[in-house]
This record gives sequence, C-alpha cells and structure tokens, in this order.
Amino acid sequence: MNSPPSDLMAPTRKGYCGHCNTHSNFTRRFTRLLHPRPREFQGFPSEAFVIDEAWECNFCDGATVEQLIYEEGMGPRPPVKVRQTWPLKQPRDLDQSVPAAIRSLFLEGSVCEAAGAMRGAAAMYRGTVEELCKDRGAAGRTLYDRIESLKAGGLDPEVVQSLHEARMLGNDSIHDGLIYASNEVADVANLIEEAAIILYVQPAQRAALRAARQARRSP
Ligand SMILES: [Zn+2]
Repeated sequence: MNSPPSDLMAPTRKGYCGHCNTHSNFTRRFTRLLHPRPREFQGFPSEAFVIDEAWECNFCDGATVEQLIYEEGMGPRPPVKVRQTWPLKQPRDLDQSVPAAIRSLFLEGSVCEAAGAMRGAAAMYRGTVEELCKDRGAAGRTLYDRIESLKAGGLDPEVVQSLHEARMLGNDSIHDGLIYASNEVADVANLIEEAAIILYVQPAQRAALRAARQARRSP
C-alpha cells in the first residue's frame, strides 16, 4: 500500500486517469495554497491549510485537479482529506449481468468515492469482494482464505490478485483509520470492474451469442 501523498514537491506520480480510464503516469502542473492565504506552495506551513494541485496525464494530456486539506502540525504530514475536483466523479455501476447484491455494494462504494468519503468507499469495495466470494461459493474462515479458495477452484490468478488488492484496501481503512488518496481507491474500483467483466459480463455475452446461434439453427 502506498502511503498518502505527503510529498507535495514530487514532480510525477502514478495513478488512475478519469479521462482516458487507464493507469497512467502524471506530471505535476501546479501546487497552489488556497487557504489561509492564496500563494504558491513553498513548504508545509505549521497552521492548517488547503491546497489545490493539478496533474497532467502523460497518456491523454487530461488534467486532474485535487484539493487536499491539512490540519496544523510540524513539517511534511499526510492530508486529512483528499477530494478530486476535476474531472467530476460520477458513481459507477457494474453491468446488469452481475448479481444484484454485488452491484448494490459496489454502487454504494462508488457513491462514497464520488463524494470523497474514501474510508467508506474502501469498506464498501471490500464488502463487494466479500459478496463476490459468497456468490462464487468460496470457502474459508477469513476473506483471504476465501479469495485463495477461488484460486484453487481455477479462477484466473490476475483476478485473484485484484480481489486481494480490494481486500487489503478495505482492511486498512477499517482497522487503522488510514487515509487514502483518491487514485488508490479508484484503482481498486477499477480492479473490481475488471474482475466483474471476466467473471460475469464475458460469460453472459458468450451465453447470449450461443443462444443466438442455436436460434438460427433451429427450424
Ligand atoms: Zn489520461
């Protein structure tokens, strides 16, 4: 797990781009103190402060703007809240072919994410993975064991890894009260979407094509 962004001077970072929907590298474009006085950011003030930072996606050139809120303290410290102000985040829904219980948890996580409630989002995304394991008939005492049992049952190792990432994010947020950058949470939402496509959407599409072929063959 990456630590929250406490290095406000880092010229580049990795993350999820809401414009081209890819994992991308970003270049810092500006870092501006908004509060208590608007000016260029030149180091951590000891008082509470708010900054805006803008990042440019190296793949699509799209700009991502985040607002970071800091409490008073000494020197570099993590923000208490990070909110993506551009591009605007819309709640994301999983495909209709995904079971309703899984979709409902994912949508609630996505609503939290869009509102900047990252611990809520992380907990809901972890819940989505719990429900997905239940739907796939996973066995085991802990969520880790249940995800691993899916691997033993022949699930694609990449999907298993995606589920573990969502599990770890939710786990940290509940037990340690950690704060996450919005791009880390967006990464996990993306991994769950990819897993849902492989597990539910693609099989549903194949079944529909099969049914269409059979319909053509029958007199
Ligand atoms: Zn991009």
